[in-house]
Amino acid sequence: MATLEINDLHVSVETEGGPNEILRGVDLTVKQGETHAIMGPNGSGKSTLAYSLAGHPKYTVTGGSVKLDGEDVLEMSVDERARAGVFLAMQYPVEVPGVSVSNFLRTSATAIRGEAPKLRTWVKEVKEAMERLSIDPKFAERNVNEGFSGGEKKRHEILQLELLKPKIAVLDETDSGLDVDALRVVSEGVNRVREGGEVGTLLITHYTRILRYIKPDFVHVFANGRIVESGGAELADKLEEEGYEEYVKGGA
Ligand code: ADP
Ligand code: MG
Ligand code: MG
Repeated sequence: MATLEINDLHVSVETEGGPNEILRGVDLTVKQGETHAIMGPNGSGKSTLAYSLAGHPKYTVTGGSVKLDGEDVLEMSVDERARAGVFLAMQYPVEVPGVSVSNFLRTSATAIRGEAPKLRTWVKEVKEAMERLSIDPKFAERNVNEGFSGGEKKRHEILQLELLKPKIAVLDETDSGLDVDALRVVSEGVNRVREGGEVGTLLITHYTRILRYIKPDFVHVFANGRIVESGGAELADKLEEEGYEEYVKGGA
């Protein structure tokens, strides 16, 4: 069973006024098969955590470690992270001009599986996954994220998740900007992937809404750059009723 272990992670972002510490000692362990929700107010550093795991150059790790089965993730290139089985869906995904969804998926699958998937079974696999997510077949020929609506971006993320079958998936605000129907389709996709028991999911969100569809095993409250409280699914209910005020005011 793969385990992602984040230990006392400190991260600074480069600003015009110099480095600004955003993550102040994040501790979290996610195992394959588990679903963890990270919830917190805007600006608390949730996306910074996702970007740091993704190896974004603007975010400098100043302390702590991230390991996947003991291997140093922070030493890995972006490609190596993907090959090791870490999947990252960003809050604001980038456009990939000139690369179609279809090519992008096949290239990613080839990199991760170590060999090109057999064309015939692959085409079928993609077609079926797209049907499950109610994605129009024409979508496969569009360029990645170019002019995608919010809902299309999120469906595309879940399509990747279903096809690439990572060990650890980090989903940053997969629920933002989705109407109820799209939220249901996206949540069903995440749940299908979870059912296999092969993926550990880190679901980062500001709102409790998605947790009505995806039941987390663990909920963590994120404030001021670190986890300030952890619990089970009931913690999300408390947050839904009471909000984040107590954590923010407490200066955690
Ligand atoms: P969240 O996802 O919880 O809303 P973020 O990680 O996006 O929080 O942001 C946390 C803090 O870090 C904010 O104060 C934000 O302005 C700052 N920050 C994040 N990324 C950058 C960046 N690239 N440049 C400057 N400041 C940043
Ligand atoms: Mg935000
Ligand atoms: Mg964010």
